[in-house]
Amino acid sequence: MKTVAIVPAAGSGKRLGSRTKKPFVLLGGKPLVTYALKTLDSCEDIDGIIVAAEKRCVGRFRRLVKEFKFKKILDIIPGGATRSESVRNCLRSIPTACDTVVIHDGARPFADRKTIKESIRLARRFGACVTALPESDTVKLTDARGLFVSKTLDRARIYRAQTPQAFRRRIIEKAYASSGILRATDDSYLAEACGAKVRVLRGSGGNIKVTTREDLKLAEVLL
Ligand code: C5P
Repeated sequence: MKTVAIVPAAGSGKRLGSRTKKPFVLLGGKPLVTYALKTLDSCEDIDGIIVAAEKRCVGRFRRLVKEFKFKKILDIIPGGATRSESVRNCLRSIPTACDTVVIHDGARPFADRKTIKESIRLARRFGACVTALPESDTVKLTDARGLFVSKTLDRARIYRAQTPQAFRRRIIEKAYASSGILRATDDSYLAEACGAKVRVLRGSGGNIKVTTREDLKLAEVLL
């Protein structure tokens, strides 16, 4: 059990505006979360998967794992109030023999196995790896109220963080033991804050995160 994937899928999905919980919203006739799980389950470099699910959805998740015959699910853990709390809950139950952890959002259905494998390879080599997309718009840093531009950032150096993000176990455990976790929306940020070097892996524009109804429509088109 060397490499374990953590899948945070315990978000409320409020921004989707659907009565169905986000992991179970249908995309191409299948629950959204099954896409990420299928890719991770069929990835040779991953030995086990731990999912964070909303407390009252745990039973439903267990049925889904059976129905889709996923083979590598080690556990389904109740998530927390924020994404980082959900990840932290999963980190507590990774097996002792695991030395590398890859974290991938349950709401990103289109990550490919090649990117997942490469993120694992880079994490083993450098300690931490974030999949990220080069920014195509010019990015402005504003004042605290968002009224005036403080600075225009050098676009060539701006990347938008996605998942998968992969880490040596020691590094991600240390990152999540730090005090900043409540505010973190990104795992590699916590690793950075602990002094880890984070290697950037170029992601793809197709690796979208389904947050809003428009994202779901786009996902149907990409599918
Ligand atoms: O919060 P955001 O929309 O960026 O969520 C990214 C991923 O984190 C989603 O897959 C979502 O289900 C998960 N999440 C979680 N627990 C929370 C909030 C979000 O597992 N409390």
